[in-house]
Amino acid sequence: MARAKPIRRVLVANRGEIAVRIIRACRELGLETVQAYSDADRDSLAVRLADRAVCVGPAHSRRSYLNAEFIVSAALTQGADAIHPGYGFLSENATFAELCERSGIAFVGPSAEAIRKMGDKAMARRMAAEAGVPVTPGSPGIVADAEEARAAAARIGYPVLLKAVAGGGGRGMRVVREPAKLAAELAAASREASAAFGDGSLYVEKYLERVRHIEIQVLSDGETVLHLGERDCSIQRRNQKLVEESPSPGLDEAARARIGEAAVRLCRHVGYRSAGTIECIVDAASGEFYFMEMNTRVQVEHPVTELVTGVDIVKEQLRIAGGEPLSLAQSDVRLRGHALECRINAEDPEAGFAPAPGEVRRLHLPGGPGIRVDSHLFEGYRIPPYYDSLMAKVIAWGRHREESIARMRRALAEMRVEGVSTTISFHARLLGDERFCRGEVHTRFVEDVFMGAG
Ligand code: ADP
Ligand code: ADP
Ligand code: MG
Repeated sequence: MARAKPIRRVLVANRGEIAVRIIRACRELGLETVQAYSDADRDSLAVRLADRAVCVGPAHSRRSYLNAEFIVSAALTQGADAIHPGYGFLSENATFAELCERSGIAFVGPSAEAIRKMGDKAMARRMAAEAGVPVTPGSPGIVADAEEARAAAARIGYPVLLKAVAGGGGRGMRVVREPAKLAAELAAASREASAAFGDGSLYVEKYLERVRHIEIQVLSDGETVLHLGERDCSIQRRNQKLVEESPSPGLDEAARARIGEAAVRLCRHVGYRSAGTIECIVDAASGEFYFMEMNTRVQVEHPVTELVTGVDIVKEQLRIAGGEPLSLAQSDVRLRGHALECRINAEDPEAGFAPAPGEVRRLHLPGGPGIRVDSHLFEGYRIPPYYDSLMAKVIAWGRHREESIARMRRALAEMRVEGVSTTISFHARLLGDERFCRGEVHTRFVEDVFMGAG
């Protein structure tokens, strides 16, 4: 469904570092930008960098960044012909994508139909199975009640994971290790999911221990579907990624090709267009991979792939949304060297990673060979308490893993943020850990090995 009309002006319907990232891509492509902001983001870097800015409501995101109708009408009055939703907020909202389509505005992302197929986790599992992509053993779909959940769990074996079909950001899942706890956990998980995502539907899947989180970046113009290799995001805390790298130290050429081909097959099956990510878990012992979910949007950690492939993913998204074909073929995609990203959050690692909003009084961001920083911070900036705590992504590139790790250590030692607590010290410790340096990581590494061993 290529649009004939080229894009001229893009409304950025997001905030923080990703809004800045999108504005940068637009500027390089010669596109004008309109930054949509809430009252709390009036003094943000994105507002300063964009050509224009428009207030879309109060601080609370339900009434601003999640207000679909208001955002579309702001785009129309500002003469924008495209909306980039970034990640989180409305980025995986099929109704919003549809509203854009109906209003004659290019949604920078896949079609509403593709979001519907892949945005719901239970539905996405069905699509993967149809496409012949292995999925974790689990219930065939949503479980209606405790009885159905118990039957599914008995069939697949404990431990199991209860997952919200609408979940995201590492929230909405619970591990259950014994049948006696299932009913109570199911009720609690469903309540939590309704409150957080407006949908309490759950399904059951096998909880796999000792796994890596491996995800494949895909890019499609509707005709050509490419994959840009993998990212290993096994360094997590509470199912939230903290460090991502590419290539994965745990994947060989053959495994990479196999997972990449499966991801491409799945995208073809659902008629996917735009950038997207297929997330899998890979069993460390057997090397088997299982489809977990698809994120039908740009991912927080996309710069890691940009540094090893040289492809500008956000610019490709914008070009595709304007009806242009991809500027490369699969044979042009080569992974060069190694890249690593640390998510620096405004949180206090000494206080259980409690959010630490406040004013950035002094700031020095690192630079030098192989270092990229994506951030919306500046001196005097007040980090508002209403949104997520990501304040900067530091990304390091090196010819090999040792070099990118050494560069990252050096960059973190240079970085200074005064006025708010940050997770820099946590990352510095992690990068000094021998097991991490040997690449022996899995999704429980931070909780079990690193924090447990002290
Ligand atoms: P990524 O999947 O890009 O690696 P995250 O899982 O951290 O990164 O999600 C990116 C952002 O989007 C986070 O701020 C997260 O809270 C938010 N997010 C992701 N999915 C959802 C969802 N279903 N509902 C609300 N927020 C979400
Ligand atoms: P979200 O939408 O929040 O990103 P995901 O389905 O991607 O949810 O899962 C987030 C994380 O939870 C994964 O990266 C992984 O660490 C863990 N996880 C998810 N499913 C399983 C599973 N079946 N077994 C073990 N860990 C899992
Ligand atoms: Mg995920």
